[in-house]
This record gives sequence, structure tokens and C-alpha cells, in this order.
Amino acid sequence: MQTVNRRRHDVVVVGARVAGSATAMLLARLGHDVVVVDQASFPSDTVSTHSIARSGVVQLRRWGLLDAVLDSGAPAIRQVTFNAGGESISRTIKDKAGVDCLVAPRRYVLDTILATAAQRAGAEVRPGVTVTGVQRDGRGRVVGVVGHDRAGAPVEIAARYVIGADGLGSRVARSVGAAVNEVRPAGGAAQYAYYTGIPWPGIEFFVAPRSFAGVFPTHHGQACIWVCNPAVDAKAVRGRTRSRVEAFGELLERSAPRLAERLRKARRTSPVQGMLRQPNQLRQAFGPGWALVGDAGYYRDAVTAYGISDAFRDAELLAVALDQALGDAEQEPAALAGYQQQRDQALREIFELTCRLAAYPAVPTFIELQKQLSAAIDREAAALAARPVPGEFVLASA
Ligand SMILES: Cc1cc2nc3c(=O)[nH]c(=O)nc-3n(C[C@H](O)[C@H](O)[C@H](O)COP(=O)(O)OP(=O)(O)OC[C@H]3O[C@@H](n4cnc5c(N)ncnc54)[C@H](O)[C@@H]3O)c2cc1C
Repeated sequence: MQTVNRRRHDVVVVGARVAGSATAMLLARLGHDVVVVDQASFPSDTVSTHSIARSGVVQLRRWGLLDAVLDSGAPAIRQVTFNAGGESISRTIKDKAGVDCLVAPRRYVLDTILATAAQRAGAEVRPGVTVTGVQRDGRGRVVGVVGHDRAGAPVEIAARYVIGADGLGSRVARSVGAAVNEVRPAGGAAQYAYYTGIPWPGIEFFVAPRSFAGVFPTHHGQACIWVCNPAVDAKAVRGRTRSRVEAFGELLERSAPRLAERLRKARRTSPVQGMLRQPNQLRQAFGPGWALVGDAGYYRDAVTAYGISDAFRDAELLAVALDQALGDAEQEPAALAGYQQQRDQALREIFELTCRLAAYPAVPTFIELQKQLSAAIDREAAALAARPVPGEFVLASA
């Protein structure tokens, strides 16, 4: 049976995780008719560790979702410990930009909270729909998407704007021919697994030559244990070991021997996952009838653990721009160009730091770059906290 939706929506968002559901939620709160589709169903996981930087936590608080994340059992993280060269420094998370803790919720929890919030705001959320391409009108403007549901039935959704929030391999970006405007050397590998059975006092970082490892405490007394290295090192270790688990163990032993020692008393509860080679790239963010948000538009190495916060910031920039364009079609060119310009400006400092960190410079330089990263995150958190909240009235009356 063909699922042809004859009603033209204001916006169809492809991808319902941190970028897509946040964009859909904000647009729906601003009063627009939004449908968000995803080939996945929720709750479901994705390949990602999940520490949210202060700026991302600020967004959750401003959008009224931080309590839901904490109520889900994600621990409020109040301590960060930095280990390098045999020294260990612990700091308490300061109360800044309206936030006094960090969180590292599992993605199957976080993404479901966002998709539910989009639905509550009035967006139609359609899991199990795979988009295979876009539709264009006679002038080449994008006017909808085509795809199929899980049973293979065709799906067509018409909309004034198509938003690609469909991740690094974005089908929307390919279908619209979005140019890759900037490519930097592909950086490193990021691998992780979950452990339980020992206490996790907070976020921990371990810096060693050509490696960065750590602990993100998460739900159910578990922690995400991760290690980032140059791709070439991770691949070499993988090549001479018998399994991913063995390779992960060897990398951890080399990167953070004290953590590896502690983990001998813990129990691993998941396979080892991750990415062995991560690109650093920036795509064109918009065109006639379409825009990209999240990893679909901007991808950076996970060494700075910043993709969720980038997605939250850019979801809001895009929702505000689309709100303008939907209100007055003549404003579209300026509104969408403004979105790309603000995105590119906002991401610049941390993108540069990410590219430098992903090249794994000598340990003292790596530590200095981490300090610069921390200051840049605080600046972004303060800037976000000072912005008006889109659809705040709807939020207040919900
Ligand atoms: C190993 C690793 C560790 C990371 N650790 C962190 C971290 O600690 N902190 C942090 O902030 N960031 C981290 N990141 C980055 C973070 O995971 C991403 O930036 C974030 O997931 C981007 O969200 P997104 O919504 O743009 O895309 P995604 O999370 O990739 O979601 C895209 C969605 O689109 C759907 N989709 C794709 N194609 C189609 C289609 N054709 N039709 C319908 N649906 C489709 C997919 O099913 C998916 O649900 C990490 C990344 C990796 C790889």
C-alpha cells in the first residue's frame, strides 16, 4: 500500500536524533507543521559516546529537557579529573551559564527524550521510514522526500523545506548535491565499551603520547570507557590482535594504565564499538528548499566529544532561520544564508581545536589545547544562555 501524504507540511526533517528531533521540537514549538522521519525506531542506540559539554547541557536546560535527562537516571556529574604525566587534578563543576553539572546519558535515552519532546510539541514523528531521495519542482527547488516504510511501501512527503539531519552519510546531502566546503585531514579513532561494578566518581580524562582515554559515568551504575588515538595506531593494534576487545585492552593499557588496572575489578557489559577513521568536514548548509543540520552538515573528530552540543546549537540556529523563512518567503535567502554564516562562525574555534587535538601533538601541547577547549566551551555556553528561547511561551504553558 502506498503511503502518499498529500498534505504539504511546513518542514520534513530526515533523522530524529539529537539534530533532527531538536530542530523538529523547536519548529513545532514555534507553531509550524513538522514531520520527522527516521529509518530507526526509538528507543535505539547509535555509535557514539555521550558526554554532553556545558554548552549542550545549557541547551537542554533552556529547552526544559534537563530534568527529563536527570530523571532518566543519568547521573549529575559534578567532578572532572584530568590525569597526565603521573599527575592528577580534580575539579568540581562550577555553576556557570545556569548549569552546575554535566551529564552523559545513553543515546537510546537522550534521543528518545528529544523525539518525545518533538512529538509533545506537535511534530509528527514517523519511525521506520527510510528516505531514498528528494522531490523537486519544475524549477529544481526541493519540495519533499521519497522513501519507503519497513514493509517496503512507498512513502512521499511534501514540504516547504526538507531538513537533512541524517548523519555523516546523509542521503539528503547526497540527493541535493550539497558541496563539501571544507575538508581537513581525517583524524583519529574513537573506541568504547561499557563497564560496571566499581564506583565512577565523575568524568575522568587520561592524556598520554598519541592517546586520550577516559570515563563517562552513565545510567545504571555503568560507565562508558573510551580511548581515542591516531587512526593509524588503532588500526595497527587491531591488525595484530585477535579481537576488538583485545585491541581495546591493549590501547587502554598503553593510554591509561591506572584505569586499565581499575577495570580489572569491573565487568564489561557491552561489545567494543567505535569508529577507526573519522573525517573532519563542513558541508554547504542550505539550498533552495533544503538545509542540513548536525553531522549531516558538519562532522568533527570525537576527540573533543562535542557533536551533540554542536547539533543542539545548530538545531536552534536553523529553527530560528526557518521560522523567519516560513513567516515570509521573501526572507528565505537572507534567513538561510544567515544560518550558514552563524553556524560556520560558531563552530570555528572548537573545529580548529578539534583538528589540532585529533593530530595528537606532544602531551604538553595537547594539554594546552584542552585548556583552550574548556575556555571556548564556557564562552559558547554563556552565549547560548543569553539567547531568547525559541517557542518559550509554548514551553511555559505546556
Ligand atoms: C565514537 C564516537 C564517539 C562520540 N562521542 C561523543 C561524545 O561523547 N559527545 C558528543 O557530544 N558527541 C560525540 N560524538 C558525536 C555524536 O555522536 C554526533 O555528533 C551526533 O550523533 C550527531 O547527531 P545527528 O542527529 O546529527 O546524527 P545521528 O546521531 O547520526 O542521527 C542520524 C539519524 O538519521 C537517521 N537516518 C540516516 N539516514 C536516513 C535515511 N535515509 N532515512 C531516514 N533516516 C535516516 C539514522 O537512522 C539516525 O537515527 C561521537 C561520535 C562517535 C562516532
